[in-house]
Amino acid sequence: MNRADKPDKTETTKKIGTKTGRAGIPEAADPKIEKTDKADYAKQQNPSALPEEDALLRWYDASRRDLPWRRDKDPYHVWVSEIMLQQTRVEAVKDYYRRFMERLPDVRALADAEEDEYMKLWEGLGYYSRIRNMHKAAVTVVSDYGGRMPRTRRELLQLPGIGDYTASAIASIAFGERTPAVDGNLLRIFSRMTHYAEDIKKPAAKKTAESWYLGIMSFRDPGSFNQALMDLGATVCVPKGDPACLTDPAACPWSAACACLRDRDPQDYPRTAPKKSRRIEHRTVFLIRYGGQIAIRRRPKDGLLAGLFEFPNTLGTLDREEALRYVESLGFVPLKISELPPAKHVFSHIEWRMTGYQVLADEWTPLGGAFSEAAGGTDAAGIGAGSAGVGNVEGTDAAGPAAGVREAAGAGGSGGAGLVRDGARLSGYKNASEPSGVGRGSDAWDGQVFGRPNGPDGVQDETDGLLAGPDGSGAAAAGVIVLADAEEVRDHYPIPSAFQAFRKRIVIE
Ligand code: SF4
Repeated sequence: MNRADKPDKTETTKKIGTKTGRAGIPEAADPKIEKTDKADYAKQQNPSALPEEDALLRWYDASRRDLPWRRDKDPYHVWVSEIMLQQTRVEAVKDYYRRFMERLPDVRALADAEEDEYMKLWEGLGYYSRIRNMHKAAVTVVSDYGGRMPRTRRELLQLPGIGDYTASAIASIAFGERTPAVDGNLLRIFSRMTHYAEDIKKPAAKKTAESWYLGIMSFRDPGSFNQALMDLGATVCVPKGDPACLTDPAACPWSAACACLRDRDPQDYPRTAPKKSRRIEHRTVFLIRYGGQIAIRRRPKDGLLAGLFEFPNTLGTLDREEALRYVESLGFVPLKISELPPAKHVFSHIEWRMTGYQVLADEWTPLGGAFSEAAGGTDAAGIGAGSAGVGNVEGTDAAGPAAGVREAAGAGGSGGAGLVRDGARLSGYKNASEPSGVGRGSDAWDGQVFGRPNGPDGVQDETDGLLAGPDGSGAAAAGVIVLADAEEVRDHYPIPSAFQAFRKRIVIE
């Protein structure tokens, strides 16, 4: 799905009906789809309903948006822009694109970049797996293709993070391959043009749309064809509000063949099945200040927001007393606590509703790793997966509050994580500057990093969960609390936007 102009799911969710359109697009399961050459499929169904390629390309010549990544047809430029535009508005992407190209101007530069450099360039765009995959793909392009992007859709699809849409966009725009780049814009236009009555999110809808577009697209200029439709969807056949054709049919080059304009019902398309509701997850987030520094920790290397820094937080809505106990469990002696305004962050499948506390601590005894969500944390995959003997483990029901931190008999279990509270502190933690490898970071990192106990004796596992520090030179194990300069955390760390509401509360003294 492409860019911010993708259909608004709430507004465009329409009950699936049986209405069929002027273009005669049948139910997606029509067996003819399998039996027929897809390129000719739409023409065979109802040739009179097909719009003209010429009209679309003429419109694009006159109306195309001037975008930084359209100044040339360099496949790297197309690739970076298309990945950035996923889930992000065009206007918001422009600055990110410019900065990215200044620092990493070609595929070799991206392949050679350190994680913290490319993560920093991506900070704020969200969906960080996109940039991680881009880096992996860049390394592959350098190692397997001599640094030149593969030219065909088929080859592009082999690269990490490049799916159908992106492969088609790169292959058509950079290399002229005749392949429709079917994203939300193209699906919306297709469904409105044809009165497509099925769920537009089903794979069959995409295949039918591809087939329909291939019936119109020639070898003349597939890149401009796709970009014209991207622009048409973003500026004329818009997802929210009325498409411009309703007031001015001349605004759309395909208005003469459009079923929705004929019946003046574009708001009924595209059709989607009622969506499932997001899971609500309550969390309590802590902004813990100690000696001009702020407590942060790495998230696990897999799962939601994998490997990114976060403020300590836990499942559930903790009241003040529970919050104090939690802070103590991280090794701090809280001096002062105050509540922060609540915040919300929406992911595709989860919504975090966050309570926050600001805590001033006057002592800190570093403890072992503290990912504690055990079975309840869907995002903390693998870390502290509540095996027997783990320190204190919080509520295991993702939906339930994390109240009632339970004392465990001892520290360290096979999982090695878990909260360790007063009286159950581990004896095995080491200052990370020791040869353990879970090292104190560099000066820039300036964080005390302590080993994560991993066994009954608290001996840390030096290989599990280690992740580079923010400057690339230190190492912070997932789940281990570290302290970092408050200003650095506020302004420079790649902390995901989910925590932005709390991050901006950091006061520099
Ligand atoms: S005529 Fe209107 S509804 Fe039909 S494709 Fe064009 S803008 Fe969309």
